[in-house]
Parts: sequence; C-alpha cells; structure tokens
Amino acid sequence: MHITEGAPLAEHTTLVVGGRAQVLAEVAGSTAAVVEGLEAVRARTTEPLTLLGEGSNVVVSDAGLPAVLVLRGGEVSDAQEGRETTRVRVDGGMSWDALVAWSVARGLGGLELLSGIPGTVGAAPVQNIAAYGQALADTFVSLEAVDRRTGEVVTFTAADCAFGYRDSRFKRDLADRFVITAVTLDLTHGARSPLRYRDLEVRFAEHGGDPEDLHDRRAAVLAVRRGKSMVWDPADPLSRSCGSFFVSPFLPRDEAIDLVDAVRGAGAGERLFAWYAGAEAEQVKVPAALVLLAAGFANGDRWGPVGLSPRHVLALVNHGGATAQRVADVAAHIQHTAAEQLGVALHAEPRFLGAFEPFDPERFAADVTRTPGEDATPGWARDAVR
Ligand SMILES: Cc1cc2nc3c(=O)[nH]c(=O)nc-3n(C[C@H](O)[C@H](O)[C@H](O)COP(=O)(O)OP(=O)(O)OC[C@H]3O[C@@H](n4cnc5c(N)ncnc54)[C@H](O)[C@@H]3O)c2cc1C
Repeated sequence: MHITEGAPLAEHTTLVVGGRAQVLAEVAGSTAAVVEGLEAVRARTTEPLTLLGEGSNVVVSDAGLPAVLVLRGGEVSDAQEGRETTRVRVDGGMSWDALVAWSVARGLGGLELLSGIPGTVGAAPVQNIAAYGQALADTFVSLEAVDRRTGEVVTFTAADCAFGYRDSRFKRDLADRFVITAVTLDLTHGARSPLRYRDLEVRFAEHGGDPEDLHDRRAAVLAVRRGKSMVWDPADPLSRSCGSFFVSPFLPRDEAIDLVDAVRGAGAGERLFAWYAGAEAEQVKVPAALVLLAAGFANGDRWGPVGLSPRHVLALVNHGGATAQRVADVAAHIQHTAAEQLGVALHAEPRFLGAFEPFDPERFAADVTRTPGEDATPGWARDAVR
C-alpha cells in the first residue's frame, strides 16, 4: 500500500483533469489489501471516500477530493476448466484489457470483442461494460465485494447486480457502498458470439483474417478502436477522454426514425431499428452519436481546450489544459441543446466526482466560443454505432 497527501488526481484519470486528493491510498490485488487500505484512509480522515480504478469513466472536480482509494493491480487468481467453459476468478484491480489478452491467449472466448476497453476488472460490473455486441453480463457468474461501511465481504450473483445497458445496482442503490475485489466469469471453449458490427465486418473484408478466430477478432477490435482513439494511449492526444460521454437514449420508434432519417437520409431509421431492435419494438435505442449530429454538433467541434473527437463524435476530448468545469459545461451545453432542439434527454456516462458550478446556458453562450470542426463529419464516423 502506498499513501500520499496532495496527489494530483489528473494523473489518475484518462481525461487528465481534476484537482488534488488530500489523502490518496493505492492498493493492489486481494480483498485483504483493500480492507487494509480502507482502514488506513479512515485512520487519517473521516471525509467521504472516493474509489477509483484507472479513472477512465470519471470527471474529477478541479477542487479535488478529500479521500481517495485507488485499486489497481492484480491477476487471474484461479481457472477451473470444465467441459464447455472455464471458470476464472480475477482480482478487481487487474487491468481489463490484460484479462482479455490472457483469455484470448488461452483460446477462451466471451471477452475478445471487449478488447481495448480501459479500466479495471473491478469497475467493469459497475456499468456492465460492453462493445461490439458483447457485454460483461454475458460471461458474468458472480463478484466479491467489501462493504465499505462494515468491512464485511459479500458475494453478488448476476441477479443481485441487476445488469442493464451501461447499468447495474452499483450505479444506483449500491453506489459508493462496495469495493469490488474479485470477479468470476465463465469463458467458452468453442462457441463464438456473432459478429454483427459493420466496422468489424469492413475491417475483416479489407484486411483479411478469420472472423471466428479469437486472436484475429482481438486484433480487428483493437485496430478499429485505435482508429477512433478508443484505446487509452498517452501517446494519442485524442484518447484523452472518458470514451463515449453520453449513453444512447431510448425513444418512441417514430421519433427515433425521424431523428435517424434527418442525419442519414430517408429509410435509414427503418433499416437501423429493424436490424437491432426488431420490427415490433415500440421504444428503440438511438445511437447517442446520431443525436449529437441531429442536434447540429459535428466531429472536431471545439469549445477552447474541450472538443468532440474528430474520430468519434461521442468522446469529449481534453485537447490540453482543460478544466473539469469546462468539460462539465460543454457536456451540459450539449445536453441542453439536444433537449431544446430535439426534446431528447441525453445522460452522461461518466461519473462526476466532487464539486461543480451549476450550468448557466446564457453565461456559456456569452463566454465560450465554439470553433466548428474543420472537416464535416466523415461518412464512416456518421455510420459508426457503438
Ligand atoms: C478511450 C475510452 C474508451 C472506452 N470505451 C468503452 C467501451 O467501449 N465500453 C464501455 O462500456 N466503456 C468504455 N469506456 C469507459 C470505461 O473504460 C469503463 O467504464 C471502465 O469500466 C472504467 O474502469 P475504471 O477502472 O477506469 O473505473 P473508474 O473510472 O476509476 O471508476 C468508474 C466508477 O466505478 C467505480 N469503481 C471503480 N473501481 C471499482 C471497484 N473495484 N469496485 C466498485 N466500484 C468501482 C468508481 O467509484 C466510479 O464510480 C471507455 C473509456 C475510455 C477512456
């Protein structure tokens, strides 16, 4: 365990914003280490404690936070081979992508399309991470967590977690109550989940490879994600983000069709929702990227140091020197515009931690200038759906 006072939290987040932590404890590995870390922080301060993994889905306030526990580092602690699946138990602090690489190297399926998602294994159940048609919930068996109030170790099944789209109870009634210290997953030996995403089909068509092979799937996903700066890489300034900033809203089918047609042309909405919602669904999930485009935003738009990624319109990027408050204001401006112009409520995916000024649309309009993206949104970005 490592404890510091006054640590800059920007260094612990992929958006690279945020003030300092009065007390910050870094722990790795086992449940026992987490219990020890919680006790060490408590011995120094009674202020509210914030838990972080790799900081890839948070916006930390410029004012900082009083007490932070960072859980990073760990390994696959057990693997039991069954007839059709191998059951693995993984430390909460292990890097998610290191787990995916481990599983692919052993021929185990179920995680390969989740390659390149930043963050820790322990944070993955919080929003039921998902990409390209795979979700954590598909392989999830159970998790172990320490109750921050009592120090008790508790086991949660999938039903206990109530996973949804970018959602679980750890975002709602159980937020800030548990530290997830281990996750157990069932990984498949033979079966492969279907490849349904156009980006991946195009990648295989243009670069070859076997769409059923786990290594080729992982390579294709990483290449597509890197093309959108959706792999956290300190050498890629466009990855200085939280990934997609808004979750895709559910809308009545007719409204959703109109919205998609406005961006992609007549007939596009029917085709899109027949593909992924079925012909009957009355409420359909509209890609948040299309909501932004329909509301008049474009790839590359900037408000000073904060902008929409030229490669992935849904990502708010810190182009250098951004404050957390500016990120919050730009996000609120986008939400305000989508609500005013389209009547659509957009919800932020990352968690805002600490104190922020409330959004004032008039002050924002007066003080902040928008620089439109230099190029119009490219077709492949307009078509990209995550
Ligand atoms: C470039 C980029 C691309 C991304 N792409 C995707 C994507 O394709 N799909 C997707 O679903 N997400 C994506 N994300 C979001 C992010 O990677 C995930 O949400 C990830 O699971 C966050 O992990 P973390 O360790 O960084 O959590 P943090 O950001 O540190 O924390 C997020 C929340 O989880 C809580 N938390 C963290 N660790 C634990 C724990 N051990 N126990 C309990 N609670 C905990 C924190 O308190 C906080 O509320 C992307 C992010 C980036 C930067």
